[in-house]
Amino acid sequence: MANSGQKVVLITGCSSGIGLRIAVTLAKDEKKRYHVIATMRDLKKKDKLVEAAGDAYGKTLMLLPLDVCSDDSVKQCINNVKDRHIDIFINNAGVGLLGPVESISIEEMKRVFETNFFGAVRMIKEVMPDMKKRRSGHIVVMSSVMGLQGVVFNDVYTASKFAIEGFCESMAVQLMKFNIRLSMIEPGPVHTEFETKMMEDVAKMEYPGADADTIRYFKDVYLPSSRDIFEAMGQTPDDIAKCLKKVIE
Ligand code: NDP
Repeated sequence: MANSGQKVVLITGCSSGIGLRIAVTLAKDEKKRYHVIATMRDLKKKDKLVEAAGDAYGKTLMLLPLDVCSDDSVKQCINNVKDRHIDIFINNAGVGLLGPVESISIEEMKRVFETNFFGAVRMIKEVMPDMKKRRSGHIVVMSSVMGLQGVVFNDVYTASKFAIEGFCESMAVQLMKFNIRLSMIEPGPVHTEFETKMMEDVAKMEYPGADADTIRYFKDVYLPSSRDIFEAMGQTPDDIAKCLKKVIE
């Protein structure tokens, strides 16, 4: 249970990467300012987080299941934390999608929007009413530099992040009247499973519908240069967690 004076922070997508490191960083805050509710869609994946949290697990960090694509799961999760009041909500869960748009089915594109856009909106709709009632709160959305600038072969992912940026920019104005802050974080490349998962998907890709020049450009030019950029510029999930901590302090 959160101590009075501790801020309750709910975070989505804590099974790996940035979400995991944010949860651990806040739960291990030297002044114990945060009570972290770390969520993930499959609690069988909790071991990495529990191990990284160490002594904080069960004290300043607790776990709940949450799939941001499911109305029922979202409602259940919010009901579970209702009496504690969420002071800070961090929307981190996200999926990537890479490749020539001709080869990507509409179903795959919808999955990206369902997570990156509707997942965030579903959560914001649920956490907002209580924050409005209390005239206090902070919502932080993990966008991407691709929410600001289109990047070749990331068309659908970029579109999903542009969509959530637009939604948040509009919402921020209404929320300000209720003393609720809404912040966006827009990282460049970060070394997480995100890239690995996308590369695994790409390795299975058969490029239906794409012309030979596009396939060649994607495989021989885009993928190698993208790897180089990741190597040269990639940040760590800890860098992003530290940045987030500054944003909420
Ligand atoms: P990871 O793949 O390591 O983490 C993504 C997290 O989102 C996982 O915990 C995953 O859970 C979770 N997730 C996916 N779908 C759902 C869902 N339906 N419900 C709940 N959780 C879900 O990637 P990152 O840590 O890198 O990504 C975190 C955020 O950062 C994303 O929003 C991403 O767009 C953004 N970002 C990442 C960058 C990068 O280069 N890595 C750069 C800029 C932004 P599960 O394990 O169950 O799949």
